[in-house]
Amino acid sequence: CGIIGVLGNHEAAPILVEGLKRLEYRGYDSAGIATVNNGTLGRRRAVGKLVNLSDALVHDPLAGKSGIGHTRWATHGAPTVTNAHPHRSGCVAVVHNGIIENYKELREELAAKGLAYESETDSETVALLAESFAREGFSPVDAAAKTVERLHGAFALAFLFDGEQDLMIAARKGSPLAIGHGDGEMFVGSDAMALAPFTDQITYLEEGDFAVLTRTSLEIRNSEGKLANREKRQIQLDM
Ligand code: GLU
Repeated sequence: CGIIGVLGNHEAAPILVEGLKRLEYRGYDSAGIATVNNGTLGRRRAVGKLVNLSDALVHDPLAGKSGIGHTRWATHGAPTVTNAHPHRSGCVAVVHNGIIENYKELREELAAKGLAYESETDSETVALLAESFAREGFSPVDAAAKTVERLHGAFALAFLFDGEQDLMIAARKGSPLAIGHGDGEMFVGSDAMALAPFTDQITYLEEGDFAVLTRTSLEIRNSEGKLANREKRQIQLDM
């Protein structure tokens, strides 16, 4: 239901939890975060309120300056830890808002390729699909792009990859997503409110946009795959 992401210069976990707090108003039943630390993906997830995730992070901290986070409002699969986002398959971690309508058909296709499912969600399909393209030799950016091409339905997505500390992919179709520009840092959020503690420099993704982020760059392609020039606005919000 809510997405947050950061390529930062500070520990990501507290930033992600703070961003998620600002998305609590949307409602949710579980939450989770993933980071890349020394090139390795890790994640923590918890059912219920964000404090449960914060508690889990105190007992079992998650280091790393790049990360994605999610509050889930379950549509496919019960609110359990296994169904909570981020979903992971091999080198890919992903958070998803919305519904992947063709997930059953994709699931069968991926299962036939030997990719194993853990959850009951439509969302996990996105991670498996990206991992399947990565296994075919596609770069993280190309694997994510090919994945998004195959998805029907409504989505806002953020991808993180094992071994990639300075890369995040964000894509939107049917669910809003904003990019926040920091000073040598880049953020992703469901709305400017989630990003308000970190930056007021916002670029809204448009329908069908696919964005490649590093700490110092943002490249957006539109639904036709052409480079798109999206305005950076100053969005002042009361904190
Ligand atoms: N359909 C996904 C799920 O049930 C995402 C729900 C959401 O937007 O939070 O996990």
